[in-house]
Amino acid sequence: MGAKYSNKINKIRSFALILVFAGIIIMYLGLFFQTSPLLMTLFMLLGFLAIIASTVTYFWIGMLSTKTVQVVCPNCERTTKVLGRVDACMYCDEPLTMDKSLEGKEFDEAYNHKKK
Ligand SMILES: [Zn+2]
Repeated sequence: MGAKYSNKINKIRSFALILVFAGIIIMYLGLFFQTSPLLMTLFMLLGFLAIIASTVTYFWIGMLSTKTVQVVCPNCERTTKVLGRVDACMYCDEPLTMDKSLEGKEFDEAYNHKKK
């Protein structure tokens, strides 16, 4: 697995999605411990917490989305959201920057991994 540069919003969103599934799976696993109320409660609680965490993450994405800048990707020509000074296209992972002076080092690293 190489360090592929990908869109921040997408990354957070998939993280939240994983949390939801993890929560459901943990809660489901709890059902196998019905003989032990303590373990079952523990699993249920953990699963519940994971789902709460994902809700918070989704809320956070909503907050972050207000700070993103919409740009048209030069590579795939679709409208994408850029968060921060450097970010990648949501569709093709083309690295994008809001700041011309940043086009040097911070970018090269991720870019090199991707291409070579
Ligand atoms: Zn693109």
